[in-house]
Amino acid sequence: MDFSIGIDIGGTKILCGLIENKNGQVIYTCKKKTNSSNDICNIVIELIEELISSVNVNFSKILKIGIGAAGQIDRINGIILSSPNINCSNLNIKKILEEKYNIPIYVGNDVETATLAEMMYGAGKAYNNFMCVFVGTGIGGGLVINRNLIRGVSGTAGEIGHIKIAFNGKKCGCGKNGCLEAYASRTAIEDNIRNSIKSGQSSCILNYIQNNKKITSNVIKKGLEQKDKIVISSLDKASNYLSIGLASVINLINPQCIILGGGLINAVDEFYKMTVEKTKCEALNIAAKNTEFKKAMLGDCAGIIGASLL
Ligand SMILES: [Zn+2]
Repeated sequence: MDFSIGIDIGGTKILCGLIENKNGQVIYTCKKKTNSSNDICNIVIELIEELISSVNVNFSKILKIGIGAAGQIDRINGIILSSPNINCSNLNIKKILEEKYNIPIYVGNDVETATLAEMMYGAGKAYNNFMCVFVGTGIGGGLVINRNLIRGVSGTAGEIGHIKIAFNGKKCGCGKNGCLEAYASRTAIEDNIRNSIKSGQSSCILNYIQNNKKITSNVIKKGLEQKDKIVISSLDKASNYLSIGLASVINLINPQCIILGGGLINAVDEFYKMTVEKTKCEALNIAAKNTEFKKAMLGDCAGIIGASLL
């Protein structure tokens, strides 16, 4: 039982990997793009079959299959309840894969798997108490206390993206108002940039978003490199909001470290740096002095490595 299969079901692709159990090494990966009309379960099975036929490992050496998916998960029963951007509701993926492969199947949330991976093999290796915060399309968070991932009574602990920073504030994807995610995610920055352009301000971003293209983290990075005023001010605003969210977390749990990851943090180093500086100013002095800040280390592989740890 030397290996596990880790699967990361995201909004745009599914990544599948063979992971060595003793050290979290990624031995092999394969992936497929997804869209809202795909049958997720079939794609997962195709990827597992591709992996099994491509690696020189006997199936009896595979201990388990772990799956991390964006969205709401019933972890106990292994059901993906709902997942953004993919065609999936109440999918009992654990049951289907258990019947097919006859090995244990574990299902969790993608932020949970990324946090587990950072704890075991990444930026959180040296810490007992820390919080991972992933800033991209949304803002996700995993809270680790005494080397345990805190899940809460219904599995939603660590949802820093939905801590409240304004009463009756901007509408959030969760359906409520005033959440941090509505002010500081890449999506929030994109909205801000688009609104500024609509109001008549000029921006180099217009060159990158013809045909309704998304303002990706890389486009934001290009705008910053070209010293685009709208991009600079949108990042500044978002980092203000993110810093008060992080400072609140620091004041509440007094962690050893805040680990920041996700598409926007990976692409835009300036955003990481300014957020860290502002957070240190906003948090209680003694807590801020003793909190370290690190970037997540495992990037795209965190999901599959963490899934193998479920
Ligand atoms: Zn929310």
